[in-house]
Formats: sequence, C-alpha cells, structure tokens
Amino acid sequence: MFTKILIANRGEIAVRVIKTCRRLGIKTVVVYSDADAGSLAVEMADETVHIGASPANQSYLVADKIIAACKQTGAQAVHPGFGFLSENASFAQRCADEGIVFIGPNPGAISAMGDKIESKKFAQAAGVSCVPGHIGEIADTAEAVKISEEIGYPVMIKASAGGGGKGIRVAWTRQDVEEGFPAVRAEAKASFGDDRIFIEKFIESPRHIEIQVLGDKHGNVVHLFERECSIQRRNQKVIEEAPSPLLDEATRNAMGAQAVALAKAVNYDSAGTVEFVAGQDKSFYFLEMNTRLQVEHPVTELITGLDLVEQMIRSAYGEKMAFGQSDLKINGWAIESRIYAEDPYRKFLPSIGRLVRYDPPAEGEKDGYKVRNDAGVREGDEISMFYDPMISKLCTWAPTRLAAIDGMGRALEDFHIEGLGQNIPFLAAVMDEERFRSGKLATSYIKDEFPDGFNGTTPTAVQLDILTAVGAAMQRVYATRARSYESGLIGEARDAWVVAIGETRRRVKVAGEEGAVAVELLDEGRTLFLTDIDWRPGKPVFKAVLNGLAFTVQASPAAEGFTIRHRAAKTRVLVLTPRSAELHDKLPEKQAADTSKLVLSPMPGLVVSMDVAAGQQVREGEVVCVLEAMKMQNIIRAERDGVVKAVNAKGGDPVAADEILVEFA
Ligand code: ADP
Ligand code: ADP
Ligand code: MG
Repeated sequence: MFTKILIANRGEIAVRVIKTCRRLGIKTVVVYSDADAGSLAVEMADETVHIGASPANQSYLVADKIIAACKQTGAQAVHPGFGFLSENASFAQRCADEGIVFIGPNPGAISAMGDKIESKKFAQAAGVSCVPGHIGEIADTAEAVKISEEIGYPVMIKASAGGGGKGIRVAWTRQDVEEGFPAVRAEAKASFGDDRIFIEKFIESPRHIEIQVLGDKHGNVVHLFERECSIQRRNQKVIEEAPSPLLDEATRNAMGAQAVALAKAVNYDSAGTVEFVAGQDKSFYFLEMNTRLQVEHPVTELITGLDLVEQMIRSAYGEKMAFGQSDLKINGWAIESRIYAEDPYRKFLPSIGRLVRYDPPAEGEKDGYKVRNDAGVREGDEISMFYDPMISKLCTWAPTRLAAIDGMGRALEDFHIEGLGQNIPFLAAVMDEERFRSGKLATSYIKDEFPDGFNGTTPTAVQLDILTAVGAAMQRVYATRARSYESGLIGEARDAWVVAIGETRRRVKVAGEEGAVAVELLDEGRTLFLTDIDWRPGKPVFKAVLNGLAFTVQASPAAEGFTIRHRAAKTRVLVLTPRSAELHDKLPEKQAADTSKLVLSPMPGLVVSMDVAAGQQVREGEVVCVLEAMKMQNIIRAERDGVVKAVNAKGGDPVAADEILVEFA
C-alpha cells in the first residue's frame, strides 16, 4: 500500500481523505493557499506545503505546484477530491508521466466522459438510454430550430463543455430557440472556451437520480445503487438521499446495469457517478458522468457500509476489488443536507464571514438514528470568498426514510452557528414539509414549494407549545434573578404571566425547580411539563424535553422578550405581566422601519459592474449593480422607483457587507 498520499484539495474533503488515510496507516500531505494556512486540514495533516495565493488559479488549480509538492515530500499518490483538478485529464496524465499515482480514473476515461456530446456517443453505443435529442454539434440557429422542432418542445439547449449548471437553457417555443441558441453559445464560449452546442428533449418535472459506480484496474465494475439529488437550487444540489424513494428493484437494477455498462465501455477504474434524469413514471435518461468522488458520497457510504475513499485508494494502488455485485445490499436510508454559508431569508445570498460560534450535533448513534457531519472548519474559522460556500455536510442514517428525515430534523435543531448567514432553518423547513416527506420529489421542488423564497414557517401547535414553555421558563429565571438583585431576597418570582407570540395571548402559571418547569395554560386547562432543561442565561441554545418530546431551540433575549427559533419557525416571544399585557395590546402597532433610500452591499465581494449613474431615474426591479462573491454573480436590483443621488462604488471595487453602494434622492 502507499505510505504517503498528497491531497490536492481543501476544506471538508481534505479532512475526509485524511481520516481514511489515518485509518489505513497512510501518511498525508496537505497543500494549502494563503487563506487556508490555519485550516483544520492543515492542522490534521502529517505534512503541509504552501502552494500560493488564495485565488484557486494561483494555488489549487496549478498542476506544476501540486507535482512539485509531491516530489518535495515524496508522496507516491495524489487524491484530487472534487472540483479543482479532479476532472482534469491532462493533470491525471501529467501525474502518470511523473510517476505519481492519480487516485481517480485513468486519463482516457476522464476525457471520454468530460465532454457531454462525446460521452453521449459512448453512452448510446453502450446501450444506455439517452435523452431523446440530437447527439452532435449544431452549426447555426436555423439548424437549431429545425432540430428542436423534430424533437418537439420543450427542449434544452446545452453546451457540450458545460458544468456546474452553466451553459444550459430551456426553450419552449421557436422564438426561445432563436434567442437561446446564440446566447448559450456565447456563454459557452466565454465560460468554457468551447462553443459546441447540442439540443435534447427537456424532461418536464424530472428527478435527478444518479448511480455510484466503482471499478478496479482488473476490469471489475460494480454499482453501489442510487442517490436521489432532486432538491436543487439553480441546478446546485442541496439535499441528497440514498436510496431514491422513486425506484423499485427492477428500475434500480436496470439503471445500475446501464451505469456499469457505460463504465466498462470506458475502462473505468475508480469511483464515479453516472447521472440520470428520471420521469415520475420511472423512465430514465443518461445526463452525464462525473469521473470523481461526488460531494454527496457519504449517503452511499451510510447505506452500503463501504468507505469510498478507501476503495479509490485500493483501486489506484492496483488491488482487486474484494467484493462483487451480489455481495452488496442496501441497508436503511441516509439523507445529506448541505449546510451553506448563505442567507435563506435574503434570497440565499452568499454570506461569508467568521464562524463566531460553530457547534455541530454530536456524531454517532442515538434515539434510533445515526449522525455524521463532514466538515473542514472549527469555531473561529472564516468562510472566505475564495471558495465554495459550504460549511459542512450533515448526514443522518436510520432504518427507514421517515426516521432518517426525523433524525435530520433533530440534528439540524442541534446545529448551532453564529457569525454568518446559514441555511439551517431552510433545511429544517424541508424536513418538516409534507411533499418532501411523501417522497414526491422533482428538480423544481424548491421553486414549487417556496415560490416567494424563504421567510420561515408559522409555528405549528406543538411548536407554539415549545415556544410558550421556553419563553416562560427563561423569563422565570431572569425574573428570579432580577428580584434577588433588587431586594436582596432570594425567593419566588411572580408566577402569573401572559405569553404573547404573534397574535396569540396565553395566560400561564409557572412553577418549577432546578431543571424542570411546569407551565399551566390557564385558558386551555392543560400543563406543559418541561424537564431535563439544559440552559442558563447567556447560553444561545436551550435544550429540554416537553411532555416527552426532546427538542433544542436557539434562543436569545431581544427587546421586551426573546427571539426563539425552533427549526424553521422563528418568532418573538414576549412574556408579560398581566398588567403590561393589557397595556401592550393598547399600544399602536409598530410601523415597519422605513426601508431607507440606500442600496447596501448584501455581502462582502467585488463589484463587477455599476449599472446606474447619479441623476438617473431607476424603476423598481432594474439592475443597480452586479456583485461577485464565491464564484457567483449576484444582481442587485432597485427595490422601488427613484432617482439616483449618489453612486459610491464602481466596477472592480471590493466592498464590505452593508457598505452603501447607491443612494437614492
Ligand atoms: P456534485 O455536487 O454532484 O458532486 P457538482 O458539479 O455540483 O457535483 O460540484 C462538485 C464540486 O465541483 C463542487 O463542490 C465544487 O467544488 C465544484 N464546482 C461545482 N460547480 C462549480 C463552479 N461553478 N465553479 C467552480 N467549482 C465548481
Ligand atoms: P452540469 O454539468 O452543469 O451538472 P447536467 O447536464 O448534469 O449539467 O444538468 C444539471 C441539471 O439540469 C440536472 O441535475 C437536471 O436537474 C437538469 N437537467 C439537465 N438536463 C435536463 C433535461 N434534458 N431535462 C430536464 N432537466 C435537465
Ligand atoms: Mg451534473
């Protein structure tokens, strides 16, 4: 076996590879950029090599620097992780030429599958069902229209070299093709330096289902079943699971057999993924093959018990696969939630900054489900603007799908992050959402179920009880303290309160002792019993058991009460004396703050273009400027009509969060 492996990547995947290497007794070398000098991966590695400045094209993407680092440290092999150089055939070839083993497929397999047109030709020849369409380049708009009409609308216009959801457009009419074909071609040319375009049928309301394959250098290929990744935003996966709730045994076997046939056709000799779109009727069509470890590989590991990184290392070393297809079976159900540094309440804008608090749920098995959290960060680390906005990948496993979903809901409750925006409340909303729970998924799911974006959810009856009980219990502690400070007496605080949540007013009587509180709901004739309370003033997380149900909420004092979030339900909870409750209801309703005449930068980033000038009349919805952060361009639009008074930034300027970009008169 190898004795030293270099990891040409960063973040959670670098940590992930180190863990397997440690278990196998292999030493690790981690390369790092300026931004990653103090990272967890660097701390965990046996050796480290600094390879340059923070932008990836000056560090992680520079093949020469990776090769030099291997030579300098004597690493015999390179694991590329995903992204960066992982699907770069010339890098894989270069490694081979330098006598370094690339832990991934052979360069021939990478180049055969790296191009969508070429890979579809291979797929068709291998008997794989492809999306009906025209597998070949299209010369001009006239030909594009002719082909689209033969296929039948809607169609998808795609760049052959496309990736990461770029270079794709749906056309519903002839006019869409006439506009879309030149647009996709221009985007493909600009993004990939390759303007070859093809057209295929657009499968409406499809599901994204992919098959994990694994090969060795002795001609053996097996599949490790499927993952469903239909929960996507802007063609980026957000929640994945294995197996898929859509597939039956026959469909699974048919997809698996096709994926294996395709892998064999290109002499595939590592871990890889064959992606399909599937109709609700279980028809399925080949999309593309990813010739690398996939971000969502942990769900496959959780249902098969295999370590895919270990399998990749063994195959790369030349070992024969120790099992065959008939040795593999699906055990239980696994879900992955990608925890992203983005603000779900602000249209999912990237939200970078420091993890002032980072407290993930404990890993391991409890209450009938298992938790796994793949992360590359610690409390105090920074999520920088240079790389992917992923904070961690939270997975749960349980014997059934619903138990895995409920486990995920609990694990998300127990995940506490402060310092930047993160999508945990959104992920929690999905876990509680009926359609998701029923398994009726589609790639349009987020758009269908959250058409106006995400604004949190209204508390359910059970959540209202949780919020009431927590508010009352917290208030009791604060009131007891206030009383003892003021009067010098340690004694019982008042026990009659009114809890106000939104429009709801509940008269309660609170009694209790250390760690347990009873909240009597005077108008309903029931009592909420909170036990096993784990909280004290100043702690942002309140854990307890309510009438037998274990829960965690994020809670903090706010003006006149508390802000408490349970999963996706975030509310102000006021705990008032009966007298102040009366007064409170007589107060005029607070007006919403006047949305100022300023356009603020929603995040730190770089101004790509400033599209307005002083004196200009701007209409609601018009583009004010374009900001770039974390590889994404974000269009900032005017929120109402107005005349521009001043412009404070121009193209090329770096800006901080909340910096004033434009002022309206
Ligand atoms: P999957 O998530 O299925 O593994 P993706 O294509 O979504 O496949 O992304 C795999 C990895 O490739 C990501 O984690 C990221 O590191 C990188 N990646 C994806 N899209 C982009 C992009 N637009 N620009 C740069 N890197 C990307
Ligand atoms: P990328 O290389 O960017 O990952 P893919 O070809 O894998 O591009 O497509 C990305 C996503 O777009 C898929 O996961 C799927 O949701 C959607 N998609 C792609 N092709 C089709 C199609 N023909 N019909 C419907 N949806 C599609
Ligand atoms: Mg894809």
